[in-house]
Amino acid sequence: KKYGLNELRKMYLDFFKSKDHFVRGSYSLVPHNDNSLLLINAGMAPLKPYFTGQEIPPKRRMATCQKCIRTGDIENIGKTARHGTFFEMLGNFSFGDYFKTEAIHWSWEFLTEVVGLEPDRLYPSVYLDDDEAFDIWNKEIGISKDRIFKFGKEDNFWEHGAGPCGPCSEIYYDRGEKYGCGKPGCTVGCDCDRFIEIWNNVFTQFENDGKGNYTTLKNKNIDTGMGLERLATVVQDVDSIFDVDTIKALRDKVCEITGKEYKKEYKWDVSIRIITDHIRSATFMISDGIMPSNEGRGYVLRRLIRRAARHGRLLGVKGQFLAKLSETVIESSKDGYPELEEKKSMIFKVLTEEENKFDKTIDTGLSILADMEEEMKAKNEKTLSGENAFKLYDTYGFPLDLTQEILEEKGFDVDEDGFKKAMEVQRETARKARKTTNYMGADETVYESLDTSLSTQFVGYDKLIEDSVI
Ligand code: ATP
Ligand code: MG
Ligand code: MG
Ligand code: MG
Repeated sequence: KKYGLNELRKMYLDFFKSKDHFVRGSYSLVPHNDNSLLLINAGMAPLKPYFTGQEIPPKRRMATCQKCIRTGDIENIGKTARHGTFFEMLGNFSFGDYFKTEAIHWSWEFLTEVVGLEPDRLYPSVYLDDDEAFDIWNKEIGISKDRIFKFGKEDNFWEHGAGPCGPCSEIYYDRGEKYGCGKPGCTVGCDCDRFIEIWNNVFTQFENDGKGNYTTLKNKNIDTGMGLERLATVVQDVDSIFDVDTIKALRDKVCEITGKEYKKEYKWDVSIRIITDHIRSATFMISDGIMPSNEGRGYVLRRLIRRAARHGRLLGVKGQFLAKLSETVIESSKDGYPELEEKKSMIFKVLTEEENKFDKTIDTGLSILADMEEEMKAKNEKTLSGENAFKLYDTYGFPLDLTQEILEEKGFDVDEDGFKKAMEVQRETARKARKTTNYMGADETVYESLDTSLSTQFVGYDKLIEDSVI
């Protein structure tokens, strides 16, 4: 049966409720008391204090459906069938309560009995040394040995610096040959869209002291994560997450507004999917109180909005269109996320304002960039200078990666180091100017800290997140 995305969320949470889990709504996308993360990127992230024992959980079994943002996946968006910068992660957790046996049995029961996926299409993977998990899949669930994949640390061991860590077991779904890359050896673990990873079961059983010494934890934990959009993709047997009922409604709206038909031209499709994805992220981020700005989370939001706006331009949109799209996001997700409806007018206002700001400069910026391209062509150059990239950033509000993306389409790249240098020079000049004028008598340290926060904005999304790890 083709359950809808909203239905599947409920089915999952009800299932784990029946297994005695405490079910609660999603936490905010903004981490609480956690400087190691810019944005929540997994169901377990807001639960860290329960895993480490810093705080007592309301119950030793919990299940959530967590809003997640992974800007590290931005390059994949619109190109793979399975990645979004925004997605919902279903997760069941055990804080020193049940362990591998229950976790594996329940995930199997949910997928095959509750949702009704064909067992023959499902493939588990385990960490190569994890005989315990291998045996559960093989002897208890009854999956033949040749259908269980063993992977190394890279893929099947969850670890984040020092602290609790452990092997994981992932569940893949074979969507059939038509989604395969066709390369020889394409199987579970291949990067294409045929065998897609739907569920990750992490067994935190060790403590890493930071020097690579592992001791067994007294309280072993379970942390699982399954992308709701991916589950819906395989249950509904559709091409990609962008064809799932609720997301397709949004994609249709994008097509309506841009006047472009889906599946007509690959290039347009990528833009349509990028807009569809980014407006979901932006809508949810604003509903959690994030505002576009030049640092941290606000900068992530700004980049997503501007990138969506620019892809709208590519498809021929004139004027504002993002707020209209967010209406559809709110409509299809408000059942699971009432805050969307509550913050509706705020969401429209923020999107419209940011789009307006960018609108004012984007055309001029694009034509200046076109001139720069001509100049490079004339000089037979392939790289845009850092000063020029900085000018686009500073005067026309073009985030560096936007400039990079536009140029990449035409076979150019950008001198990133030069860009950073130009930025540094401007900061230095501003600092000196402040020193001599002592602006309004303000304490200089205020500006120093402003500078530091600004300096985090020029690295990629990935680095931005990494760098924020203290
Ligand atoms: P992938 O290898 O496909 O990028 P992952 O191994 O990075 O996924 P995990 O960190 O294991 O993902 O997260 C748990 C689950 O969350 C995944 O099994 C998948 O179902 C889902 N998921 C992860 N990243 C995304 C994304 N960008 N968009 C949608 N769902 C995702
Ligand atoms: Mg990933
Ligand atoms: Mg993976
Ligand atoms: Mg994974």
